[in-house]
Amino acid sequence: MPAVDSHCHLDLMGAVPDQALAAAQAVGVSRLVTIGIDVPSSRWCADTAAAYPDISAAVAIHPNEASTASDDALTEIARLAARPEVRAVGETGLDYYRTTATPAQQQASFRAHIAIAKQTDTALVIHDRDAHEDVLRILAEVGAPERVVFHCFSGDADMARTCADAGYVMSFAGNLTFSNAGRLRAAAAVAPLELLLVETDAPFLTPMPFRGRPNAPYLIPLTVRALAAVKGLTEERVAGAVTSTATRVFGG
Ligand SMILES: [Zn+2]
Ligand SMILES: [Zn+2]
Repeated sequence: MPAVDSHCHLDLMGAVPDQALAAAQAVGVSRLVTIGIDVPSSRWCADTAAAYPDISAAVAIHPNEASTASDDALTEIARLAARPEVRAVGETGLDYYRTTATPAQQQASFRAHIAIAKQTDTALVIHDRDAHEDVLRILAEVGAPERVVFHCFSGDADMARTCADAGYVMSFAGNLTFSNAGRLRAAAAVAPLELLLVETDAPFLTPMPFRGRPNAPYLIPLTVRALAAVKGLTEERVAGAVTSTATRVFGG
């Protein structure tokens, strides 16, 4: 049963796309979404997606880089987001853990990215670190795009219920496999199956038992297995669900 890596950074992995894709497809990971963090990486992701039908791209200026989100930079992100191989605007959002950009800069950039996602009818991929309340508040204030993904979901069960009520998709990463991730597993347990995605966030967040090695999309089956265990479902059922959700969110 094929699965999809909804969020990786092929450029940050230093990966040759052919090799990363071949390794992933050898274990049934049929599709990757490579995510931009600034203008050069977004351009790289769009160009790579244009060259490989099984790779899609997301483009954005990461919240940690929000101090560089000038009008010119945002115009370029909007231009890239209109390309057919670009299926999402992200990762954008708020990161109050690492404050290389001020909360005001991050919020302004987040609002601009939400507008671009709506204008281009693409999904919105959200990075939310220690900023649940403000992320949810801003989405409610400006009106969320039709397809919203909380990447590397880090909320608790209450937050998962709030996201489910709003129809937001929750993407779980390899940290779901960590022994201290009980709170995250409780969130995954209440999140509806049809609102789930899985991701590696490669090269970060390597799942157990390979923690310490560089992460890569071919490790996604470990997160599918962890999610299946939490949901009490077969891996095939979970892999099928995340694959159809990926198609709904990112297009075919
Ligand atoms: Zn992120
Ligand atoms: Zn990421």
